[in-house]
Amino acid sequence: MLNKLQLKLGQKLILLAFFAILPPLLAAGGYFYSTMQKQVLAQIASSELNNLHFVKYHLDQEQRHFKSTAKVIATDPALRMALERKNNLGLNNQLNRLADIYPAINYLILLDAEHSVFAINNINSFKQRINGEQIMGAKLDGHPLLPPLIDSPSYSAPGADPYLKQFNLPTEYAQWFSAPVIVRGKPIGWLILSYRWQALTTALEKNLTDNLAKQGFPTLGAAIVNQDNQLMAGSLPKNITVPGRTITLTISGKTFKLIMQVDPAVALKAVEQQRNLLLSVAFVLFVLLLVVFYFVVYQQFLVPIKALDAGTQKFAAGLFDFRLQTQGNDELSHLARSFNAMGEKLEDARTNLKSKVEQRTKQLTLSNIQLESAVAEVTKANNTKSEFLASMSHEIRTPMNGVIGMLALLDKTSLDDKQSHYTHLANTSAHSLLALINDILDFSKIEAGKLDLEMLDFDLEALFADFAETMAIQAELRDIELILDMHKVPYQQAVGDPGRLRQLLNNLVGNSLKFTERGEISIIVSVEQIDDFVQLTCQVKDTGIGIPEASLPTLFSAFTQVDSSTTRNYGGTGLGLAIVRQLCELMGGSVRVHSKEGEGSTFTFDVLLNRSQSSENNVPTLDLSNKRILIVDDNQTSRQMLAKYLEHWGADTAQACDAQQAHALMQNNTNDTNNTNFDIAFIDRQMPVINGLMLIKQLQANDQLNQQTQFVLQTSISRQDNPDLLSRQGIAASLHKPVRVSQLYKTLNKMLQNQSLPQPTEAADTTQSLDMLTMMQGHILLVEDNMINQIVAREILESFGLQVTIACNGQEAIDHLAAATTDYALVIMDCQMPVMDGYQASQNIRNGMAGQGNKDIIIIAMTANAMTGDEEKCLAAGMSDYVSKPIAPTDFHKKLETYLLID
Ligand code: ADP
Repeated sequence: MLNKLQLKLGQKLILLAFFAILPPLLAAGGYFYSTMQKQVLAQIASSELNNLHFVKYHLDQEQRHFKSTAKVIATDPALRMALERKNNLGLNNQLNRLADIYPAINYLILLDAEHSVFAINNINSFKQRINGEQIMGAKLDGHPLLPPLIDSPSYSAPGADPYLKQFNLPTEYAQWFSAPVIVRGKPIGWLILSYRWQALTTALEKNLTDNLAKQGFPTLGAAIVNQDNQLMAGSLPKNITVPGRTITLTISGKTFKLIMQVDPAVALKAVEQQRNLLLSVAFVLFVLLLVVFYFVVYQQFLVPIKALDAGTQKFAAGLFDFRLQTQGNDELSHLARSFNAMGEKLEDARTNLKSKVEQRTKQLTLSNIQLESAVAEVTKANNTKSEFLASMSHEIRTPMNGVIGMLALLDKTSLDDKQSHYTHLANTSAHSLLALINDILDFSKIEAGKLDLEMLDFDLEALFADFAETMAIQAELRDIELILDMHKVPYQQAVGDPGRLRQLLNNLVGNSLKFTERGEISIIVSVEQIDDFVQLTCQVKDTGIGIPEASLPTLFSAFTQVDSSTTRNYGGTGLGLAIVRQLCELMGGSVRVHSKEGEGSTFTFDVLLNRSQSSENNVPTLDLSNKRILIVDDNQTSRQMLAKYLEHWGADTAQACDAQQAHALMQNNTNDTNNTNFDIAFIDRQMPVINGLMLIKQLQANDQLNQQTQFVLQTSISRQDNPDLLSRQGIAASLHKPVRVSQLYKTLNKMLQNQSLPQPTEAADTTQSLDMLTMMQGHILLVEDNMINQIVAREILESFGLQVTIACNGQEAIDHLAAATTDYALVIMDCQMPVMDGYQASQNIRNGMAGQGNKDIIIIAMTANAMTGDEEKCLAAGMSDYVSKPIAPTDFHKKLETYLLID
């Protein structure tokens, strides 16, 4: 219970002491008090008895006194003489005189020998008139107070006296005394003395009680009662019910009770005062005991326990050098000694631990330093590796440039079929090798933190659609459907690095193509506005071989391939996905994969782009709200994707997976009077059993059908249909797959305006034939140390119609220019060359070392584009522009055009 109160140890002890000391103290006090009370009451009782006996004694004395008084009066000679002569003349006056001598006498009567009233006083001792004459001669026998009339004095018991009333005196209890008047030894009459017994007795008792009260005795009153308990004399308080102490009193054979009463409250007042004093003493004693008890317990128990508590707290705070004072030999001192011993052990252990920790820390610091220098070395080695890889790939790219260029030139010469085939194979291998080198170069650049992203405003739709189209050609060759879904892209333009975005797509879609035998590959693009950025999310989903779950965690690490047999079957370096991951992270995003073996893979990446400020940034929208459009395609994803675009513009669409379903849908619509027929039907050309063209023919041939439906034929990218031929076949338009939103928009817009439709424009031909390039004029100084590259560049330049002079290094170039008789249109300068490199040579030309006339000549650098800063370095050296190696003829042509075709 004490625990529940949550008291401290000291408080608990006080509480315990309180309950331990208080009850015995109270019991002792109570016993002492009751004993004292009993004693006091016994004392009072005995004192009461004493006083009662004292009253009784006085009353006896009084009796005796009046007896003698009667006797003395009876001896009066005048009385005797009168009785003898039987002449009572003047006797009453004699009795008056006698009565006056003895106060407290009511009256004096002289009886003759016949007991008749012979004389009676008529004035008493209080000078009151007594009408005693009334009873003169009357016989007194039978009077209630008459004592025996004998020859010796006698008296009656006190009682009521009828004469008092008759005599007009105050009525009260009286007592009669009689004494014989003796003459010659014989009674000749009797003297009767009536005495004011009640008044005198009451006065006596009052006197007594007053005296007792003065002495501090708690008397309430004293009285005499008769046997009927009638008050005879004295006084008793009416409201006191406690019976008083009583003794019996016998007067003339009659019994009376003498009573005395005390006030118990007053009687016990002194005792109560004693009790209060006792209580105060007990309380002080109690408090003193409590204090002493607490002090002793505090010193003996609490102080050592508190010291122990403080000690444990110090230990808990790690101050193991703290020690307790140990005196005495009790259990607590023993505990303190054990505590100190424990402290010593802990201190030792800590010192031990500290030295061990210091030792370990030293070792760790040492190994940290070693590790740091090792890490620095590794970082240095890694950087060196990256630099090495970069310069290696640059070195490899230079001869590769030659190989590819030579193969291109070789391909242009007249070759027989076998030679042409070999050239084609060599060209393919060379391009694969170049792609591999490019991958390694990119990877090293990213690793070395030297890859810079461009910030260009570019057309999102064009980027994805162009890319999808190039991939679609490869997909088509393997009978795989390639779908581009951009219906969740409301923007036309964004700002970012389109080249790197294309690289991401190329790696992911390239993999999908590589690892998918049949089915489809979808590219699903969506954008989300986040503050000022556009988060572009792209999903590349295929139905290929999938990836085992165990390989997923390491998939994006460099040089990781799922298994060696895969490598054998499909080739590759294991760098593609690592580059994808790093590029995504560089562009503020990430890449993740979800794949199931045998079912296919979905790679999802997101990157952050900036919003374009371009005014026409939103993808245009069409109102197709009243149009019903049928989509017939055996590929469900393709159908659904097209439906999404059309529904987005408000059209009501229906889908059919083959000719049979298409017929049924058309038929239903015609039969249903509420439904108008389809306004437009998109028909896929390539469908199994009944192809698109056949289906259109069948539908057109059915007279029952509403002929309002306009047909759009969806064809593969590689197929070029003659628009005239199509329109003659009643086909309104043809659309290439994968569908471009802009193309779809244009086609539908035209159809809605009911105009004859132009055929879809082809995607810009990036592989424009060399033969179609414009011819240029001018003399070029080509500065290049590598023989093969000299040949390649010369061939390309000459194919543009340009005249070429070659210098093998920077110094030779300066000499040429200085000594030249003809004006050079521009200089094409390699950067890394023996004797004098391109940078130095350019600086020297700008400084006029090749002649004042050539100071401002156009210098185009040929950079290996290996590392960041190459271009800046060229411009800093004073060069006008740069082209990247290996040189792509069309790009090179475009670049030269800006300088050579000014007019
Ligand atoms: P690689 O040049 O070998 O393709 P990647 O880093 O691009 O290198 O890919 C690593 C490996 O991941 C591949 O060798 C292949 O095993 C697996 N992989 C990547 N994409 C796919 C895919 N779409 N389907 C199945 N396997 C894939």
